[in-house]
Amino acid sequence: MSQYWSEVVHGLTPYVPGEQPKIAGLIKLNTNECPYGPSLRVLQAIREAASEDLRLYPDPDARALKDAIAAHHDLQAEQVFVGNGSDEVLAHAFLGLLKHDAPLLFPDISYSFYPVYARLYDLATRLMPLRGDFSISVDDYLQAGSGGHVGGIILPNPNAPTGMALALAEVERLLAGFPNVAVVIDEAYVDFGAQTTVALIDRHPNLLVVRTLSKARALAGLRVGYALGHVDLIEALTRVKDSFNSYPLDRLAIAGGVAAMQDEAWFERTRALITASRDKLVAGLQPLGFEVLPSAANFVFARHNLHPGAELAAKLRDKRILVRHFRQPGRIAPFLRITVGTETQCEALLLALADIVQPASVLR
Ligand SMILES: *Cc1c(COP(=O)(O)O)cnc(C)c1O
Repeated sequence: MSQYWSEVVHGLTPYVPGEQPKIAGLIKLNTNECPYGPSLRVLQAIREAASEDLRLYPDPDARALKDAIAAHHDLQAEQVFVGNGSDEVLAHAFLGLLKHDAPLLFPDISYSFYPVYARLYDLATRLMPLRGDFSISVDDYLQAGSGGHVGGIILPNPNAPTGMALALAEVERLLAGFPNVAVVIDEAYVDFGAQTTVALIDRHPNLLVVRTLSKARALAGLRVGYALGHVDLIEALTRVKDSFNSYPLDRLAIAGGVAAMQDEAWFERTRALITASRDKLVAGLQPLGFEVLPSAANFVFARHNLHPGAELAAKLRDKRILVRHFRQPGRIAPFLRITVGTETQCEALLLALADIVQPASVLR
């Protein structure tokens, strides 16, 4: 608190990211990063870009990256927006597309940055409760739409932190039900098992798909995210960006991003490894007494039938393993969100959990 703060800053509730520990040797399964390093082609491209050219500003339009993304998705470069991580892309979407005089709808259990942006940009919101099984009910949204004005809709698919996917036909029902407002589908985790909405862009000019290179392309440290949609939606984001920062992506990020989008072989190999580890992790958690929600992501959301989430997270930390526990009351309090690591990391986690939930004295 300070007398120098603006009214806006007094009213903010900032997002709290997962811990980035300074201690070496921890098994880090708390922020959904990729356990494998990025494509070597990415590192090579960044090394080459680390040249005297750094004295020059980067391309404000990051055209080379837009071209690579458009080619990957079979779209036009004009249907692509790029930003400094998808969080920045999302922020611009909140201001440029979702801020209207009617409330923005999103799930009550969802990416915890959404309410933060809503607060920052002063948007009215309406939280839409997930069903008892933690799935999203499109009917609830359609009903909310028939009962009054809606300013926009945003949801992650797969949802975070549940990991549960919404079927493509359900997303399309939502898009068709709200032709007059922007619907943002945050596909941060889509490459691990959900159906992408990208093919619906040509039929639904209200659809904005948001993606990131942080998860399935192992580049959380490079900060590259993008959005795909009708040119009118992209123009809104560009207008916000050009009123904020002309160069959100530096030369290294553009070069690395292009190489990442072009290395399909690395991408396919890595996501296959992670989905295989995930399936093994789920199979290992269940016999330890965990209920695991069906995950289409690179993390699982699990609760133990006896041990509270906070206790498990603390005991794992003592064993040098970090997982995420959300300190909020309500339905998700018992859960741990566990990032899928390498097979070795997942095995270490399962051994540590077995030790915590089935102490040797009980087994004897
Ligand atoms: C990780 C994540 C993002 C942010 O990704 P960045 O590109 O690293 O900013 C956005 N949405 C969801 C749901 C995420 O989990």
